[in-house]
Amino acid sequence: MNSRSKKPGNSRQVDGHVARKRFGQNFLTDESVIRGIVTAFGPVPGQNVVEIGPGLGALTRELLAALGRLQVVEVDRDLAAALPLRLLNEGELVVHQADALKFDFRTLARGPHDLRIIGNLPYNISTPILFHLLAQADAIADMTFMLQKEVVERMTAAPGCGDYGRLSVMLQVRCEVEWLLDVPPEAFSPPPKVDSAVVRLRPHATPRYNCVDEKRLQHLLTSAFNMRRKTLRNALKGQGSPEQIEAAGIDLGLRPEEVDVATWVRLSNLLGPEGHHE
Ligand code: SAM
Repeated sequence: MNSRSKKPGNSRQVDGHVARKRFGQNFLTDESVIRGIVTAFGPVPGQNVVEIGPGLGALTRELLAALGRLQVVEVDRDLAAALPLRLLNEGELVVHQADALKFDFRTLARGPHDLRIIGNLPYNISTPILFHLLAQADAIADMTFMLQKEVVERMTAAPGCGDYGRLSVMLQVRCEVEWLLDVPPEAFSPPPKVDSAVVRLRPHATPRYNCVDEKRLQHLLTSAFNMRRKTLRNALKGQGSPEQIEAAGIDLGLRPEEVDVATWVRLSNLLGPEGHHE
C-alpha cells in the first residue's frame, strides 16, 4: 500500500476512498449484513425509494438490483460524483449531491405517503435527521435507518423501562417504531466504537393521538424527564393545578418513565403553552 494513501488516526482507506470522519463514514462491508438489511427493508419495484448517505454503494447496489430505479442524497461531493461510475449498468440511479439535513424530500414525492427512505446514517446527526424528516412526514411511507443501538433502544422503549424518555414519546406520537435487527461493529470499515441497530419508523397516516401542539409536548417532556426520578406531582410543580390534572384521570404519583404516550399527550393538551392550564 502507498504510505501516503492511508491517513493516521481514525481515517482509513476503503475501496479507494479515505473515510471522512466528519461525515460519519463507516462503510458496510459484510455482505450478509447488507443483504439482511435490504431484505428487512423489503424493496418492491415501482416504490419510490430514497437512500440517504449511499457512500460507496453497499446498500445502493442491492437496492438498485431489487428496484431498477433509486434516488440517493449524498453530502460528500467525491462520493456523489463516483457513485454512478461504481454502479454503471446496475439500474437507474438519480444522485442528489446535498446535505440531507437541508434537503426538501417532499420534492421527490409523487403524492402523499409515497417515499420510502433508507439510510445508514452518521450517528452524530441521526436525531436532527429524524426530526427533519418527521416535519415532512406527509410525504413519507416509512423510514428504515441504521443507528447507534443505544439510540434505537431509546426510540423503541416502552413505558416502565429505563430507556423510555423524551425521544421515545416524541417519535411514538408520530410513528410506529419497530426494531428490525442488530449490527456489530465488525460489519463496517472502519468499525465504529459502538453497536448499531436497524429501526423502521412508519408515520401514522392519520394521527393516532390528538396532540394539539407538539412543541408544547416537547417542552413538557424535557422538563419532566430532567427529573425522571421524581413523581409527576414534583416534576410538574408550577405547571397546571394538581387538582385539574388528577380530575383528568392522570395519576400524579407516577414517575415520568411510567407515563404512556397517550397520557403524555393528554397532559400536554391540558397544560397551556407556559405550563398553565388552558
Ligand atoms: N450507506 C453507506 C454504507 O452503508 O456503507 C455509507 C454509510 S456512512 C455511515 C454515512 C454516509 O452518509 C456517508 O456516505 C456520508 O458521506 C453520508 N452523509 C453524512 N452526512 C450526510 C448528510 N448530512 N447528508 C447526506 N449524506 C450524508
